[in-house]
Amino acid sequence: MVIRRPTLLIDKQRALHNIYRMKTKADRYGIQLRPHFKTHQSATVGEWFRSAGVEAITVSSVAMARYFADDGWSDITIAFPVNLREMDEINELAERITLHVLVESAETVDFLANNITHHLNAWIKIDTGSHRTGIASDRPEEIRAVAGTIANADRITLKGILTHAGHTYNARSKEEIQKIHEDSTEQMRNVRAMLSSERFSGIEISVGDTPTASVAENWDGIDEMRPGNFVFYDVIQYFIGSCGFEDIAVVVACPVVAKHGGRQEIVIYGGAVHYSKDGTVDEEGRKIFGLIADHVSDTIGPVRSGSYVRSASQEHGIVKAAKDLFNRIKQGDLLYVVPVHSCLAMNLLNDVYTLDGERVTHMRSGL
Ligand code: PLP
Repeated sequence: MVIRRPTLLIDKQRALHNIYRMKTKADRYGIQLRPHFKTHQSATVGEWFRSAGVEAITVSSVAMARYFADDGWSDITIAFPVNLREMDEINELAERITLHVLVESAETVDFLANNITHHLNAWIKIDTGSHRTGIASDRPEEIRAVAGTIANADRITLKGILTHAGHTYNARSKEEIQKIHEDSTEQMRNVRAMLSSERFSGIEISVGDTPTASVAENWDGIDEMRPGNFVFYDVIQYFIGSCGFEDIAVVVACPVVAKHGGRQEIVIYGGAVHYSKDGTVDEEGRKIFGLIADHVSDTIGPVRSGSYVRSASQEHGIVKAAKDLFNRIKQGDLLYVVPVHSCLAMNLLNDVYTLDGERVTHMRSGL
């Protein structure tokens, strides 16, 4: 395989290892692993999950649900507030697969109840602190009202309550992740107890996010976990403490197009349109847009200390290079950028291969 343009390379062995490790953990705790497929959006990577015994998945849009349903996945949660403008597509999906949706208002449930033509599973989205979507866990009347509306709908089953503790992304240690997980799952157990004390029984609890799924060891009362990013991990997860560098399974191979000796910087063909402008701050307080893997052969080599992407404009990346890297690298060589956020890199790049040169299909390339 000749790399001419920015190309996403996946270390398949590491990705498989990440998948099997998470599945084993979920099995150990008796929890269903329903991985979020928005991270990879790929039928090829989906096969790797199938090989580990995963049968149920999470997606973030109706279009993504259709893509994976067309690839034979028959139990799918769309973990995004229901978009009522896509009712026809929702009906089409509900006819052919076991479909789960998230609701957080009685109005939405009413609309679904009046327009759904097949059976639907509903989860009430609970906000345990990330403040993106969901009913705050300390608003029992609202939660009860939504549950009651679902109970009155003929074709809708109340499956459970669901949260995404996305505030773990502000953590910077395993201890901080654990603390958020304990707090969030405690809130979920309390909401379930409140619903069970009314007439709602069999309520399951579904939680998400890679940091807690990777680190937490208390899963009392939890029925399902939905991490997605863990299949690849990335720089953010590495800084948070969810993974080691040796777990990261993706790099963006970027052609070197210029060198600037005065500032010891390397210009690469690979910028915001290839791995996004999502930056983070490293241990030394520097804003970075990617780290540099030392080398890539049959696996992804260790991170090269002292080198990082300091700026990403549309197609350019500017790499602050350690002296030995700067001296060694020539124009036309490749630099391997470890993305800050692997889900975005995977979403942006059309050219995706494993390290062995196997083409990885994804939503934009078709099945
Ligand atoms: N569930 C929901 C509702 C999400 O929004 C996400 C990610 O945003 C996930 C699960 C997966 O979490 P992560 O990206 O940390 O793996």
